[in-house]
Amino acid sequence: MIKLNKYIITDFDHTLTEKDSTSSWGVLETLNTLNKEAKNKLKDNKNYYLPLENNLNINENKRKKLMKEWADNNLKILNHSNITKKDIKKASYKKNAMKLRKGVKELLKYTYINNVPVIIVSAGIKEIIENFLKANNCLYENIYIVSNKIKYKNNIFIGFKNKTIYSSDKHKIKYSHIIKKSLKGKGVLLGDNISDTQVNPNNKQNILKIGFLNNYTENKELFKNAFDIVYEDKVSFKEIINIIKKL
Ligand SMILES: [Mg+2]
Repeated sequence: MIKLNKYIITDFDHTLTEKDSTSSWGVLETLNTLNKEAKNKLKDNKNYYLPLENNLNINENKRKKLMKEWADNNLKILNHSNITKKDIKKASYKKNAMKLRKGVKELLKYTYINNVPVIIVSAGIKEIIENFLKANNCLYENIYIVSNKIKYKNNIFIGFKNKTIYSSDKHKIKYSHIIKKSLKGKGVLLGDNISDTQVNPNNKQNILKIGFLNNYTENKELFKNAFDIVYEDKVSFKEIINIIKKL
């Protein structure tokens, strides 16, 4: 019997982190140097758009449009805030900048030891995710992060380098050659949003979809139908390690 390679493709915010954790975008709201007006605007955006993101009763196209609006609005605010690379490092290179779910560190260590590639696909912010994982000693070589890359001019945040990755557009992502090579064999997909199930359109078979149903998600049936396994309560990632072992 030929042994198939294994891989993990996963969302970041509220999948690898707890549902009540700050998101990678949210870390920017904590910057000391950000003025009050900008902070309030970002917070208002979150209070308005987050419930819409999780309201699966809203038609998908409409929701996609709203999610783009959210990211674009946030970018407009941030682009005029004189945020420096140093500010971002200070806020994100911290063990508790966000809250990893229980067992995530063990999972990442397991994948590193066992050569299982982990592809994190996030509509969040790459540098913030990287800094945070580094601070937690779990940014291993087998981890690839596909996310929004910050563009700086004279060390000031001026937007993203790539075309913005929106949470609703994960099916449109073009992967690098190295990542495409990793996406072969048996996969486990992790996400807390239905659009997370669309990250890997080329491999519909041989992938086990695990969903984390956060209690604020509307229309739970639709969510449950999109995943093979759904966790509704707090889950230890030790269970996920066991699933990967048995693949
Ligand atoms: Mg998420």
